[in-house]
Amino acid sequence: MGLPEVLARIERAARRAGRDPSGVRLVAVTKGRSPEEIREKVLAYGDFPLGESRVQEALPKIEALSGATFHFIGPLQRNKAKFMGRFALVHSLESLRVAEALNRRLERVLEVLVEVNVGREPQKHGVLPEALPDLLGALGELPRLRVVGLMTVAPRRADPRRLRAVFAELSRLADRYNLPERSMGMSEDFELAVEEGATLVRVGRAVFDEL
Ligand SMILES: *Cc1c(COP(=O)(O)O)cnc(C)c1O
Repeated sequence: MGLPEVLARIERAARRAGRDPSGVRLVAVTKGRSPEEIREKVLAYGDFPLGESRVQEALPKIEALSGATFHFIGPLQRNKAKFMGRFALVHSLESLRVAEALNRRLERVLEVLVEVNVGREPQKHGVLPEALPDLLGALGELPRLRVVGLMTVAPRRADPRRLRAVFAELSRLADRYNLPERSMGMSEDFELAVEEGATLVRVGRAVFDEL
């Protein structure tokens, strides 16, 4: 599809929902892509944030693409906390233990999103919606972390009605806790996510491949 087409679809989806398209940011998911490919297919079009899901893979790319903005979108472990300062935003915080490690290791305030398992899938990352009040309360005590929103990964191969319900639920939760950012929607479903209030969409294959 390519990045320009993804942007055009984001804009159309936003307008369908009566939203201002500038309220949606595209995070180009660059896992498995080389620095050359990232320059050609993403950075040639502008300074889009790059989403990486593994620290070991991300660190050399951060070196190679100096000046680019990186977001961390993958499973977060305590022993990787010391690297999170290299990222402008962490989408995937899901535990207080990891948050406490981050708070200890960071030298500056880091913006984070809390990952929510809205679809209540057993193997899925993220906290269940009912665990959010306690977790958000505890995170509020950690001075080096600033929670700015929520993130979810929708169930795979779900039908559009189900996807829409999951995205609408994440938006409702973000509203309830007064959090501005909603990170939701990937290559298969980013337009639905934008219609339901996404402020960040994480798109990989539709940016890089023929979809
Ligand atoms: C890989 C990944 C994406 C992007 O998925 P695509 O289907 O390539 O768009 C988005 N979010 C997370 C958490 C990912 O791991």
